[in-house]
Amino acid sequence: MLLETVNKKDNKIKKDLWEYIKQWDTIIIHRHVRPDPDAIGSQCGLKELIRATFPDKDVYAVGTTVDDLEYLDQMDEVPEDIYEQALVIVTDTANIKRIDGEHYKMAKQWIKIDHHPLDDSYGEIEWVNTDASSCCEMIADMWLSYPDEIKMTAKAARLLYAGIVGDTNRFLYDATSPFTMQISAELMRFPFSHTEVNDKMNVIKPQAGKLMGYALDQFTVSEEGVGHIILTKTLLKSLGMDDSETHQVVPLLGKIEGVKVWAVFVEQSDSEFRCRLRSKGPVVNEIAQKHGGGGHPLASGTHAKDEEEIVQILKELTDQAKAY
Ligand code: AMP
Repeated sequence: MLLETVNKKDNKIKKDLWEYIKQWDTIIIHRHVRPDPDAIGSQCGLKELIRATFPDKDVYAVGTTVDDLEYLDQMDEVPEDIYEQALVIVTDTANIKRIDGEHYKMAKQWIKIDHHPLDDSYGEIEWVNTDASSCCEMIADMWLSYPDEIKMTAKAARLLYAGIVGDTNRFLYDATSPFTMQISAELMRFPFSHTEVNDKMNVIKPQAGKLMGYALDQFTVSEEGVGHIILTKTLLKSLGMDDSETHQVVPLLGKIEGVKVWAVFVEQSDSEFRCRLRSKGPVVNEIAQKHGGGGHPLASGTHAKDEEEIVQILKELTDQAKAY
């Protein structure tokens, strides 16, 4: 065990958090709407660690099921009345309005574990580490802080590894640190197939391939290095796709030479546009916040109510790219 890999900065909060978890018999773990592998991995990975360590506790993971991510784990059904006696832990979710599920409000106490910049403050204990590549890295970090006490299993290691791979885009993004790599190596020592996880994350549906082809054909890049693409609901309908399948388009524009920042706009059923912002340097989360969203400095999201707001967001991205 590479104990020197432990992140010492958060020692106190990790201890408080683990001691607090020990006190509860029923724990319900939530994460954000429109989950990605890090949301599911941190939620279900933590559930698995707590269950393996304390078999007598009732631990649940709740939220909407996403077909594409069912290979990671299944969600639990939780009767409403259980919440009154439960501790709720929310992983990977910066703001309350993005928590998937409603009943969390009925719980006695909440805990927040997140790696996004602090947006809403919520929970009896809030552990926010914006240096972490992913929320899964934080959960694995907690395990590495108490390796003799917290029981890691192959199932938990697989989930946490998947979240790290997902949020770093296979260790490509800037948030990938030596610590990320060491933690991933520790997880890989457990008997799960990392190639199976990598393959599942790499596979795309044929219609997603066509959408990616469309995006690579139709994107535009401005002189200032702002790339963008708009995916209309007519286009998605013609491909038999919905918004949840459009995430594969997002990293593509970052591959184009000269692109400094980029935006992928996806028209929703109510004709608003979901807007995903990415950057290679210029900070974009302030722009997302200005339009009612949020996220990381280099990866954030928001909504645009119409094409006029899209133009405005592109203008702000242009100003930011110019100033960089
Ligand atoms: P996405 O583009 O959905 O992958 O999101 C990238 C990052 O931006 C995530 O870490 C989210 O937490 C954040 N984000 C996306 N959409 C919103 C939103 N509407 N409000 C706040 N944060 C968001």
